[in-house]
Amino acid sequence: MKKYAITIVGAGLSGLACGRRLQGEGMDVRVVEKSRSFGGRCATRRWGDHVVDHGAQYFTVSAQRFRDQLDDVLERSALRKLSGSVVDACSGAEIPAKSGERYYYAPGNNRMGAALADGLDVRRETLVESIVSSGDGGWRVAGERCDAVVVTCPWPQAAALLGRDSAEVEYVPCLTGFFEYEGVWEGVAAKRYAVMASSSDDPLSWSACENWKEGRVAAGKTVFVVQMSEGFSREFYKKEREVWLAKARSLLEARWEIGGKTLGATFAHRWGYARLGEGAKRLPAGEVEGMPGCYLAGDATSGSRVESAWLSGLDVADQILAGA
Ligand SMILES: Cc1cc2nc3c(=O)[nH]c(=O)nc-3n(C[C@H](O)[C@H](O)[C@H](O)COP(=O)(O)OP(=O)(O)OC[C@H]3O[C@@H](n4cnc5c(N)ncnc54)[C@H](O)[C@@H]3O)c2cc1C
Repeated sequence: MKKYAITIVGAGLSGLACGRRLQGEGMDVRVVEKSRSFGGRCATRRWGDHVVDHGAQYFTVSAQRFRDQLDDVLERSALRKLSGSVVDACSGAEIPAKSGERYYYAPGNNRMGAALADGLDVRRETLVESIVSSGDGGWRVAGERCDAVVVTCPWPQAAALLGRDSAEVEYVPCLTGFFEYEGVWEGVAAKRYAVMASSSDDPLSWSACENWKEGRVAAGKTVFVVQMSEGFSREFYKKEREVWLAKARSLLEARWEIGGKTLGATFAHRWGYARLGEGAKRLPAGEVEGMPGCYLAGDATSGSRVESAWLSGLDVADQILAGA
């Protein structure tokens, strides 16, 4: 097998899983990431005395290959099942996870990205602005030549680098908020983990009590996360955060019967490209048409789930290795 120099654009889970597999097979790998963190949209932050997932809330473990990866890469004891139920906002009926269980990573879901990145050369805070031919069969990315490049960003960002139409795969925004309340975890929040809206007309798509994630919320407090619908997120994306947080708060308090509790801190995050739109087409994971040695992975190819995005990175790594 030839030893290729490979640049991966994006240190989300797909890019890191791809890079780790390629490096494990002897390839010379460099990952370039525009932000300071690992894990991309599988994002977590320390917020006051709490640790909250402001990107992916939980993940499924359906495929054996993914299960094996988690065993290889993660601290097994930190992988936890969410014991609380997810219920439908209208009917109140329980919504089972497609693969039976929902998992979270105890130190923070983004720590999975950090675990994958361990031992990889990741250049953080480096924005890739272009991917151009090096003139000798390779590519130039972020000032360096490589034999192959793997692009893993959300399609609108990937399309800009690949000279393609950003409308080919629709991504939708999501406004996400956190609300901290004084007092112990009780009432409705002690009976269910999350409420999901089945109708896109419902502005509150997802609301959940973070206290169900062990060790995440400081004693004596209750923390809720909300994710607003596509319509609401588009309408309020550019408005002052106080405006939409106030609306989100009243929807949350009604849904979770929170009346009378004292609100502490709030936190807001705007995801411009949160996930694929409903019914959006997916592109094939693999070499980009007309660009030999330039590959696409990530959720534009797999659908917006942690598990499938991670597996898309492995799939592309397999394709590169098969051709080397
Ligand atoms: C609010 C929210 C909630 C979600 N909830 C769930 C859930 O509960 N369960 C679930 O399974 N999935 C969930 N998802 C979806 C899941 O998080 C994503 O599908 C998955 O993490 C995508 O991984 P990725 O590697 O394909 O992309 P990303 O994680 O987006 O990684 C791409 C990386 O590329 C970087 N990048 C972009 N452009 C450039 C550039 N030009 N130069 C350098 N770097 C660049 C980005 O900073 C990013 O780190 C959620 C997503 C969001 C936003």
